Amino acid sequence: MQIQKDKVVSMHYTLKDDNGTILDSSVGKQTLNYIHGHGNLIPGLEDELEGKVKEVKLNVTIPPEKAYGLKQEEMLIDLDRSSFENPENVQPGMQFQAQFDNGTQLLTVVGVTDDKVKLDGNHPLAGQTLHFDVEIMDVRDASAEEMNHGHVHGEGGHHH
Ligand code: ZN
Repeated sequence: MQIQKDKVVSMHYTLKDDNGTILDSSVGKQTLNYIHGHGNLIPGLEDELEGKVKEVKLNVTIPPEKAYGLKQEEMLIDLDRSSFENPENVQPGMQFQAQFDNGTQLLTVVGVTDDKVKLDGNHPLAGQTLHFDVEIMDVRDASAEEMNHGHVHGEGGHHH
């Protein structure tokens, strides 16, 4: 059975950055299970998996445009330090949820001065070329219930 829209794919993956540093891996843990063709994975990875079958191993490089996008300058925001609840405690690396017109966004503190805080709303992997080692463990049809819910049930899947 080939990977195509509405198939449930189970796979193991290891994600590395351009320096070969491992950022994330499912190896030795639960497989990643997802419904193909619904934007559950980054577009570049779904493209590479399309048409592949069980037991295939892939080594793919995904440019930022087909992964988490390019870093956007306008996602860097300066705020008054006094606008934070505990201004004296604000430190680089801290994360805050912010409410925007199009939903909530996770902002990471990237700089602090006496009176200003610089926040970055880009995805942590924005601007990065990603390297995936993938092994396809299983491909099957999604059940009607899974299609309804938009996610995988069973082992490694969502609960109700
Ligand atoms: Zn469900």
